[in-house]
Amino acid sequence: SALLSLRNVWVEYGDRVVLEKVDLDVAEGSFVSVVGPSGAGKSTFLRVVLGQEVPTSGTITLDGQPLARECGPDRGVVFQRYSVFPHLTVLQNVMFGLECTKAPLLARLFGDAKKRAADEATAMLQAVGLGDSLNLYPSQMSGGMQQRLAVAQALIMRPRILLLDEPFGALDPGIRADMHVLIRQLWRDFGLTVIMVTHDIKEAFSLGTRVLALDKRRHDPHAPHRFGATAV
Ligand code: ADP
Ligand code: ADP
Repeated sequence: SALLSLRNVWVEYGDRVVLEKVDLDVAEGSFVSVVGPSGAGKSTFLRVVLGQEVPTSGTITLDGQPLARECGPDRGVVFQRYSVFPHLTVLQNVMFGLECTKAPLLARLFGDAKKRAADEATAMLQAVGLGDSLNLYPSQMSGGMQQRLAVAQALIMRPRILLLDEPFGALDPGIRADMHVLIRQLWRDFGLTVIMVTHDIKEAFSLGTRVLALDKRRHDPHAPHRFGATAV
């Protein structure tokens, strides 16, 4: 059965319909690429799945439960840029996620708990290829390395779903190819369910087990029809 389900989901701003009756089941372990022209509603789709925005109508369930408003530890997210803390080291960046969730009132762990968090964060950083960069600051790293760090941050709470919002869009082609290898490997090793928004059709088809095309024509009759709505 589906891990994530959208039923009759509509998002409207005034009389503008951005998501029109979306019915979607995302199977556990699948990798869904979301494509579509600018303005088709890709960011809106991600915001509602993240719980940052409540749809005008319809229901969203995760594992059969109504989606929590806040982006909880069940969903990790990577944005195109600016998702790491510049004033924290690589290791601190990843530990921060653990500290905030495990000790929300203190926002600090001490003693053994701190050591366990550091070990856990270090292992995750090794998994994304940053095992030798624990004490660097983000500004000392390339864009590709910063995105590896963002991925480690997103995965440290072991989310069921990893949401990627144009995660490789700002990277050079060679680095992007390395990131594709990494993401595919993490998807397999962690048994993740991935939803990735991208402008890159080749990337969408090479990584995705399924490609979801959002069509601007649904809500803007003047928009050029650039993609057919096809699911693979
Ligand atoms: P995409 O990510 O595919 O480019 P978006 O989800 O950002 O598309 O936007 C889809 C449409 O919804 C656009 O026409 C955009 O102008 C409109 N839109 C998005 N957010 C809002 C909002 N908060 N208020 C009004 N219109 C919005
Ligand atoms: P289908 O499942 O009909 O082959 P898709 O997998 O491409 O179609 O789309 C999944 C869901 O998203 C469907 O409910 C479809 O109606 C909806 N959909 C596609 N484009 C848009 C859009 N721009 N706005 C709202 N819903 C859309």
